[in-house]
Amino acid sequence: MVRVTRKAVRERAHEVFRLLADEYPGTAPELCALRHRGPFQLLVATILSAQCTDERVNMVTPALFARFPDAAALAVADPAEVEELIRSTGFFRAKTQSLLKMSQAVTAGFGGAVPGAMADLTSLPGVGRKTANVVRSVALGLPGLPVDTHVGRLARRLGLTSASDPVKVETELCGLLPPEEWGGLSLRLILHGRKVCQSRTPRCGECLLAGVCPSAGRVGGGTAHVGARAGPRAPAAEKPSSRRRRSQ
Ligand code: SF4
Repeated sequence: MVRVTRKAVRERAHEVFRLLADEYPGTAPELCALRHRGPFQLLVATILSAQCTDERVNMVTPALFARFPDAAALAVADPAEVEELIRSTGFFRAKTQSLLKMSQAVTAGFGGAVPGAMADLTSLPGVGRKTANVVRSVALGLPGLPVDTHVGRLARRLGLTSASDPVKVETELCGLLPPEEWGGLSLRLILHGRKVCQSRTPRCGECLLAGVCPSAGRVGGGTAHVGARAGPRAPAAEKPSSRRRRSQ
């Protein structure tokens, strides 16, 4: 098996970032698909996006934000009214509870302004590390690398990490690129995961990353053809167990 050094992984991460930035240009706020005005509305939209598409969230938030534009308004909302407004996003009763409690916490604890510190954000009801990183990187201009299922899958296929735990994936990816690139990398990996490197049927034959991807043609059944967009093949991704042994 070809040994892949940390330096080589870092160089691959920079090349992946460069290729993805060419394919999906724009800043983190421009790349974010959830429509919003300001950190609070993005926080609400991100909570609503759990188990739901961004398109569906964007269909309900205009009416929701028109009725409850900020934390102070949503903190005292009638739950039944909120439930009706967000019903189509699924899990609407639980999401309503999260939205109201989050809004009450933002109002009571932070004067109505969404805090920027990770510890403060994750202290809010319904806000986990992924959601906090979305708000930090897209709406607050702070470093943040949200790790969802797409980001984790692509990072592993690209040999940038062997971890499955999202926090470990985040830590390892953050170590490969400067903080100002974290949010953009996450959003581009999500876009590429949806469009090309899908979970069951990665389209390696038309993937711009095939030349640097150690999994090209080796995942999703192992027979995906690597076609014209691919450059020279990268070494196969290391198995997690062998990487762990070497790092001990
Ligand atoms: S080459 Fe295949 S496995 Fe690698 S990122 Fe592209 S689609 Fe995914």
